[in-house]
Amino acid sequence: MERTFAVRVRDGLHARPATQFVKLAKSFASEITITCNGQAASAKSAVKLMLLGIKEDDEATLRVEGEDAPDALSALSTFLQNPAAGDIALPKTGGAAPASSAKAGPEDDGSDGIAASEGTGYGPSFAFFPPVLKIEPQAVSDTEAEISRYRDAVSGVTTAFARNKQRAGTESDTNAIIDALIDVAQDAEFAEEIEAAIRGGQDAASAVMSVGTRLTESFEAMDDPYIRARGEDMRSVTRQIVLALVGQADVSLADVAPGSVIVADEITAWDLARANLPDIAGIVCRKGAATSHVAIMARAHGIPAVLGASISADRLAGAGTVGLDGAAGKVFIDPDPATRARLNDAIAREAAEKKALEAYRTVEPVTSAGIRVEVAANLGSLAEIPAALEAGAMGVGLFRTEFLFMERKTLPTEDEQAEVYTRLAEAFAPYPVVIRTLDIGGDKPITGVDFEHEDNPFLGWRGIRMCLERPDIFKPQLRALLRASVVGNVKVLIPMIADGSEVREVRRLFEECRDEMRQEGTAFGSFELGVMIETPAAVFLAAELAQQVDFFSIGTNDLTQYVMAADRLNPKVASLNRAEHPAVLRAISATCEAAKAANIWIGVCGEAAARQDLTGFFIENGVTELSMSSTSIPRTKQAITRL
Ligand code: PEP
Ligand code: MG
Repeated sequence: MERTFAVRVRDGLHARPATQFVKLAKSFASEITITCNGQAASAKSAVKLMLLGIKEDDEATLRVEGEDAPDALSALSTFLQNPAAGDIALPKTGGAAPASSAKAGPEDDGSDGIAASEGTGYGPSFAFFPPVLKIEPQAVSDTEAEISRYRDAVSGVTTAFARNKQRAGTESDTNAIIDALIDVAQDAEFAEEIEAAIRGGQDAASAVMSVGTRLTESFEAMDDPYIRARGEDMRSVTRQIVLALVGQADVSLADVAPGSVIVADEITAWDLARANLPDIAGIVCRKGAATSHVAIMARAHGIPAVLGASISADRLAGAGTVGLDGAAGKVFIDPDPATRARLNDAIAREAAEKKALEAYRTVEPVTSAGIRVEVAANLGSLAEIPAALEAGAMGVGLFRTEFLFMERKTLPTEDEQAEVYTRLAEAFAPYPVVIRTLDIGGDKPITGVDFEHEDNPFLGWRGIRMCLERPDIFKPQLRALLRASVVGNVKVLIPMIADGSEVREVRRLFEECRDEMRQEGTAFGSFELGVMIETPAAVFLAAELAQQVDFFSIGTNDLTQYVMAADRLNPKVASLNRAEHPAVLRAISATCEAAKAANIWIGVCGEAAARQDLTGFFIENGVTELSMSSTSIPRTKQAITRL
């Protein structure tokens, strides 16, 4: 069976969505081929899939053959039609990383490169220039033995990759990057081509080198910066397999002296994963971009980095000391005393700022007027809990339950949901966790629910509208929430409310669940019930809604798009889609007024909650909870205490 449709994955099938898509495809037994732009590839090969260069809005055809073909077709086409599939905190384009709020400061102009990870670094240079691998072709007498030698080498390399993953600890971006390297090493089509070359008479090392080099060059010829950057992965996996085959150890970053700045032509994720990251004062490379894995890892570990530096390899390799300003993309080779002093001042200033922010982890911020504000985390899975706790989250202000339902072959059961919600509540106790009921449709379809084509899905059958018509899906979630609230401080949030009757209907369904649970003897707890204020109707009805619920949470993402009639996903109307627009701010003030009059608490959980230019506005209007991505929590706490 086959289906043709437009791919809606935001920014196309670059590394992360491609890896997730392949993982999903591999969970089915069927043979799955995807065709796009006149080329076909197996949906189970990330390497080939990425090389198709599938972009957002491209037309693709999925062809599926096998016993589980209907399920596979439905799950995979749903994935490809979901703009948020595989979302990751990558910069939008191959440009600079987010600029530092405090400029590092050296006024000397230095050499230019790409600002890949903010922060200032200075230290003795550690030159990392691994020799180019030269492979002499060998005669092969036993082809099958050569193939098993190749397979052993792959397994040795993937085991070594996995060992480094354990070392990297819980840092999820680094682990995801190492997973991507393992996927490339084990890619079925990569292996097939190599084994075919060995059967054609090549020795294993030469076969890996020639296939790997050709695929690396194919990646590097792609338009998309994300996919182009995956050439690095291909090159580093190729190198490691070849080294294993010829029995050589690679030069390693494991010996970097503490406080050094690594200078290199190129550093791959694999090289960096072997270094003791806290020892590294900075990274300067002649190659690489803001989308390179090394850039993502540097940002995740707070290591200043400048990539794509326009400095000759000889000059870099010969440097004694190196300074860099990662926010400005500047490199200073053997800086003079004045520049050195400025670099050291900037480093000291940044360290003090970092320390000050760290101190906010345990702070419960109170404004100078004595208002205590809860700064909570927006989460989509249990895997994000450690980072939220580390950042000092005072509970969860928005748990997007739809991620439990997306990218799965079947709907999660009541038991599975009860377990997730309970573990979430336990992790943040005694702070509350606000769990939002399923908000799918619009930009977030799922397997197991047939969404008919809608001309305006954002104005269509989404969130509570769908749930109320599908009690078979909604009631297990409500029962799971009732069960979890026996254990933890759970609050329940209903999305996309546009009418009071929807709240009444939710309450009726909860009552129905409680009756059933009483009869079965299943324990259930009580909780506060709140609604998202994200439609203009909810703003206008805020006074009435406030009588029906215990709290409001303003979803500024949707509220902005609906107040401004400007699609949140359409860059052409981005200038209208601004939460700070007076029309949106008035809608927020009106909602806050209604909450105050009814004496219920109000929070903000859209992206704008983390905007420091709006913190004062929210709090003056009576908001007492701001919920955001974990990385923004310490800065927001600081901003509140400074109000
Ligand atoms: C919002 O709309 O602001 C919100 C928090 O919900 P989501 O982004 O999940 O639609
Ligand atoms: Mg929303």
